[in-house]
Amino acid sequence: MYNSAKLTKKIHNLKNYKHTTFYSKKQVTVQTPKNRKAYYLYVANKSGKVKGYVYAKYLKRYEPKTITIVGMPTSPSTTQEKPTAPQVISKLDLESLINASPDLDPTGQLLSLTAADYTTYRSVFDQNFNVGDYADNGVFNQDQASIYVKSAQLVPYVQKAIDKWNTALGSTVFTLGDAQNHSLTLGFGDGQADGWDGVFDGSSVEVDDTSFHDTTYPYGPMPLGSQRTVSVQLSTDDSGVGDGLAAHAAIRRHADATNHYLTTTVTGTPSQLLENYWVGAITHELGHSLGLDHTPYFSDIMAAQASVEDGQSQENEKYDWTDFKDSDGTQGGALTATLSQRDIDRAKLTKLLGYW
Ligand SMILES: [Zn+2]
Repeated sequence: MYNSAKLTKKIHNLKNYKHTTFYSKKQVTVQTPKNRKAYYLYVANKSGKVKGYVYAKYLKRYEPKTITIVGMPTSPSTTQEKPTAPQVISKLDLESLINASPDLDPTGQLLSLTAADYTTYRSVFDQNFNVGDYADNGVFNQDQASIYVKSAQLVPYVQKAIDKWNTALGSTVFTLGDAQNHSLTLGFGDGQADGWDGVFDGSSVEVDDTSFHDTTYPYGPMPLGSQRTVSVQLSTDDSGVGDGLAAHAAIRRHADATNHYLTTTVTGTPSQLLENYWVGAITHELGHSLGLDHTPYFSDIMAAQASVEDGQSQENEKYDWTDFKDSDGTQGGALTATLSQRDIDRAKLTKLLGYW
């Protein structure tokens, strides 16, 4: 970049400004030694601090969505700014893509739109897929969160939950951090009064201390030392299974007789069942950190039986629900610590929306 159109003094090296947007104020034509014409642009960066004359071919034209004309080219023969149509999908087209996709499951083209589409229609996506920007600023840095697990006892559970998300999303989204270096903390807390097994508050995850250490929770007494496979039948009608069936797996009350009581069976050794339950709870809470709110599908890790919990409805929701939508025999995502395709697709969407 030269200080004047005489091109005698170089003042900046453009290699140091590869990603800088320059604004062109005017164009000059200079006579080269071989008696040829060369076009130079007088440009300045946004702040106006870096400015000078640059050989036009060293610059790449950037087509903004809205054109601000800051000056007219001096020569009519030079390229003229042509207003371009905004490269954003129409709301109608977006809505027909959403309608063509399974309920609350962004698939296909919905996961391959442009950055401008996601920015423009953030609230439409939030509303239609029950997602939002729930993690505090700084939890995700370059698409990664580093978790400091405050209790050694929880580490193997957290590691398994981390592996589930990282494998499903095909990248290292979560890592284990330490007391000095982390962006998210995870430890025991007290959920007894409010009735939670796990909770995410923006920068930390807590697991209920009492229930975690109660081996009769949530399935009742089991022969823990046994390697024998057991089957536990669960029903969201809590009359048959005691009051342990927790948070996102079942409900402690039912509103009316029209509710269907979803019944399912989980199978494994007693210790596997308990491990899966708590890995599932932690995987669910990490899902909240990724920007996923609840769904009415028992098969999802993000399932909740009702859209309203403790009088609070979800921040972003497509519709209200008071019971699971899937049918009896469905394997519970949180109970079996299994991410559904819907969970995975929604997490891919929240990445595109910039929530992690
Ligand atoms: Zn939840």
